[in-house]
Amino acid sequence: MKKKILIVGGGTAGTMTANNLAKKLMPEIDRGEIEITLISNSKNHYYRPGAMYVAFGKSEGYEFVRDQRSLLMSEINFEIQEATEIDTKNNFVKAKSGKKFEYDFLVLATGCEAAPDRIPGLSEGGDWFYTYEGATKLAKKFHNITKGRVLVTVNFPKTPNIPHQCGIAPVETTIMLHDFLTQRGVRENIEILYTYPTHAQSVTNGLFLQEPTSKVLPAVFDGAGIKHRTGFTLSKVDAKKKIAYSAEGEEIEFDILMSTPPFIATKFIRESGLSQALDNEGWLPTDKKTLKVKGLSNVYTLGDVVDLPVSKAGGTIHNQTDVVADNIASELRHGYPTENYDGLVIAIAQMGLSCGMPLWYNYEEDVQPTPCSKLGSFVRKGFNKGIYWAAARGMV
Ligand SMILES: Cc1cc2nc3c(=O)[nH]c(=O)nc-3n(C[C@H](O)[C@H](O)[C@H](O)COP(=O)(O)OP(=O)(O)OC[C@H]3O[C@@H](n4cnc5c(N)ncnc54)[C@H](O)[C@@H]3O)c2cc1C
Repeated sequence: MKKKILIVGGGTAGTMTANNLAKKLMPEIDRGEIEITLISNSKNHYYRPGAMYVAFGKSEGYEFVRDQRSLLMSEINFEIQEATEIDTKNNFVKAKSGKKFEYDFLVLATGCEAAPDRIPGLSEGGDWFYTYEGATKLAKKFHNITKGRVLVTVNFPKTPNIPHQCGIAPVETTIMLHDFLTQRGVRENIEILYTYPTHAQSVTNGLFLQEPTSKVLPAVFDGAGIKHRTGFTLSKVDAKKKIAYSAEGEEIEFDILMSTPPFIATKFIRESGLSQALDNEGWLPTDKKTLKVKGLSNVYTLGDVVDLPVSKAGGTIHNQTDVVADNIASELRHGYPTENYDGLVIAIAQMGLSCGMPLWYNYEEDVQPTPCSKLGSFVRKGFNKGIYWAAARGMV
């Protein structure tokens, strides 16, 4: 009987994995033995890092959106459906429309979402660049500010050892902001204050979630006149008075609060009963090597929804997708998975408007910071302008 692979989520993780699976399993697909279906609740596919450039007026965002169908190989079935229910005993996912999608193998790739409401006052008083709407709002504020203070705050999930989306993004945007305000000629009248919470994954009282980067950041920030302070865990915002309060008992006034909000898994996963993460955050319990959901032999997961201690980043997914695709292909052909994920993350951080820093790390080794360069920026630009779409199609 035809075997069915179902992928839920048409973002970076779902799209790359669907295309990689279609390539690996082409002979079986051609013979009508295997069928791949991807369902997603959006017609569009967003290149999420593009929002950062929108925040600094470098893009309106249109070039960072593609029609989801256009990114998938023609052999993949695609339907716009909102998954609402999962039955792992009877192997099906149910959609809001009532349609049931049965599977032999399931890949859960529904990402995560910003949840500013989890901190009192943050929705009203704060801004963030993690969504296109938020970035557009922020762009207007960055364009108009002439004096005062931009306060940067970073929030981590409550579940231990889980990062927020894209660990380096708060650093990238703080330095981009310095460049942007310098270009506008208003930097000397505006204080940029970067703060970091007391506990950030395994680091305590640092400026970043890994020790080696945390140690070099003070010099980087000092060089740009960016003020920095650790031990500021945002607990409350007074939107009227424009004051941010910390769990450590401090208060800081701001003109603009650029915050990394709390992140949680999407509703479908939070309500699936598959996660026991703290505060109903919904992170999927994931085997760090096979990338299977723990306790479920035919369900894989990757991307921002997992509970692994690695960055929630495209540069992570790029290395996870082959593990998932190889393992499913091998299970179908031979009855056992063959690949293990080693925690590899490779990315180019945008350290300012025209400087790129290559970074890589895995479960064993932290990022070793290297000087950022114009060449790094060139590669990052290439990724933004087109390499990403090739990567999503499984070509890079
Ligand atoms: C501002 C910003 C900057 C970033 N910078 C970088 C960077 O420099 N480098 C880097 O590597 N990464 C970066 N990232 C992170 C990267 O973009 C994410 O890690 C990546 O997009 C996550 O992919 P994903 O597929 O797991 O989730 P998503 O891309 O969010 O995709 C999830 C998909 O699931 C769908 N979905 C959700 N719920 C359902 C449902 N119930 N039913 C059906 N479909 C559903 C959604 O519509 C979406 O298509 C950045 C992110 C942001 C926001």
